[in-house]
Amino acid sequence: MANLQAFTSWIADYAATVTEQADYLTDLDRAIGDADHGSNMRRGMTRAAELAGAEEFTGIDTYLKKVGMILVSNVGGASGPLYGTFFLRMAGAFAEVEDAGVEEVGKGLRAGVEGILARGKAEVGDKTMYDAWAPALEAFDTAAGSGSDLAGALAAAAEAAAKGRDETEGLVARKGRASYLGERSRGHIDPGATSSTLLLESAARTLA
Ligand code: ADP
Ligand code: MG
Repeated sequence: MANLQAFTSWIADYAATVTEQADYLTDLDRAIGDADHGSNMRRGMTRAAELAGAEEFTGIDTYLKKVGMILVSNVGGASGPLYGTFFLRMAGAFAEVEDAGVEEVGKGLRAGVEGILARGKAEVGDKTMYDAWAPALEAFDTAAGSGSDLAGALAAAAEAAAKGRDETEGLVARKGRASYLGERSRGHIDPGATSSTLLLESAARTLA
């Protein structure tokens, strides 16, 4: 079960992770974008992680909502609104939930990803962060459906996301900045699929 404290640990862990991986994420974005994904994520998540010490939150929903608002207002480019919407929509799944189990977290992740889709209109195979999220949600549900607890379902989701991330290398981008490169975008891993996989790996470490 994951309570508010587990969610604040998730955000802190992810902020530390994207800070540590900022140069790598930026290098991935240099190849097929504008070399700012690492700095975007580091800036936004550092601000988001500061929330927990600066304010009292009464619930998982109000906390995640604020995290989303911080990302929308502090991160430019495609990823700020996309990750911001992810957390805002995820927040909506935790109204009245104090301790989230596998079912609630599954609903929350799905709601978040629906937000990414509403905003970015990506489909599987477009070489975006959705290529990590789509298999991750499927693996989460399969694990949950066969009786896995939250730890097991998150581990399965993170593993599937990593595979989806790796498979973006062979794809041609059809959304976002990378799509301007057309065929030349092939042969590079998508930065957003990489940061999304890191977010799930971080969730597997902290939420369960
Ligand atoms: P920008 O492209 O504006 O510089 P970032 O570099 O921070 O923003 O983020 C780029 C990432 O955003 C891409 O690697 C991709 O995963 C993701 N992305 C871009 N457009 C979309 C979209 N329409 N739907 C989903 N993800 C997208
Ligand atoms: Mg960029």
